[in-house]
Amino acid sequence: MEYVEHVVDLVGNTPLVKLNSLTSGIKATVLAKVEYLNPGGSVKDRIALRMVEAAERSGELQPGGTIVEPTSGNTGVGLALVAQRKGYKCVFVCPDKVSEDKRNVLKAYGAEVVVCPTAVAPEHPDSYYNVSDRLVREIPGAWKPNQYANPENPASHYHQTGPEIWRQTEGRITHFVAGVGTGGTISGTGRYLKEVSNGAVQIIGADPEGSVYSGGTGRPYLVEGVGEDFWPETYDKTICDQIVEVSDADSFDITRRLAREEGLLVGGSCGMAAAAALRVAKDLPEDAVVVVLLPDGGRGYLSKVFNDRWMASYGFLPPDSTGATVGDVL
Ligand code: PMP
Repeated sequence: MEYVEHVVDLVGNTPLVKLNSLTSGIKATVLAKVEYLNPGGSVKDRIALRMVEAAERSGELQPGGTIVEPTSGNTGVGLALVAQRKGYKCVFVCPDKVSEDKRNVLKAYGAEVVVCPTAVAPEHPDSYYNVSDRLVREIPGAWKPNQYANPENPASHYHQTGPEIWRQTEGRITHFVAGVGTGGTISGTGRYLKEVSNGAVQIIGADPEGSVYSGGTGRPYLVEGVGEDFWPETYDKTICDQIVEVSDADSFDITRRLAREEGLLVGGSCGMAAAAALRVAKDLPEDAVVVVLLPDGGRGYLSKVFNDRWMASYGFLPPDSTGATVGDVL
């Protein structure tokens, strides 16, 4: 019989899919690393597994313990899957800009969800970083993976995502593009690809307009899961050769086109990374191989980027194309 012991055993080894339509006029090969095919539906399954196993080894996480983490959803799903497998409880803290769909997914996996305001500074007592710290102090046996500072986050990409991409491209990758949130993906994957290619692979971070990585102050943007208003420890500033700044409008346009033209129903940060990858690929020769990592699927965003009225309410679609008018309560 062909089966795995647990769904967690399916984490990683995601495929590369060639982009065909969005790349019209581009000579280089652009390959998408499709992370929604992980069992929890995102790239974050990878870091969840590695962070939990390291905490078990160090004794920080004991049998019957509770995992407490500020997460925009995807890390929560990964942690919830691993927690189920190993018998831990989960409490997740989300900013209120995270869609209700995503929060309900966490609850469906059996986690408890605490919602905090997005529009407060990280040092504010109600910020999702501070609320999670308080919960860790109050809950006995609590352990906070802290994906923003945990070295196992970039390490999971150094040991797994990077080698997968190198093997899948038979060492022909020339450019790697990924969005930057905690920076774990770009720092870990980028470090591996730099090392294995003697510095030949170019590493390109994609960042929402307004975020610190592309010189912003952290002003609000709508794309979820990427960009920061502070510099996390998991982001290694020495890895990226280039940071490409992408507007919400471009991120969402490419997100919708990925679904419509490439059959890839993915989240807004995927459109952002793909927009950056296409911009980079435009000037590259035929033998260039650009790999862009698409972190999650689009089902958590059906009421946002895939909803015409929501898009029109922010001016990303003309109001007359949807029936919504200015001032409409959506
Ligand atoms: N996209 C989404 C949807 C995410 O949840 C995250 C993680 N915050 C990222 C991109 C960025 O990945 P990383 O944290 O590894 O930089």
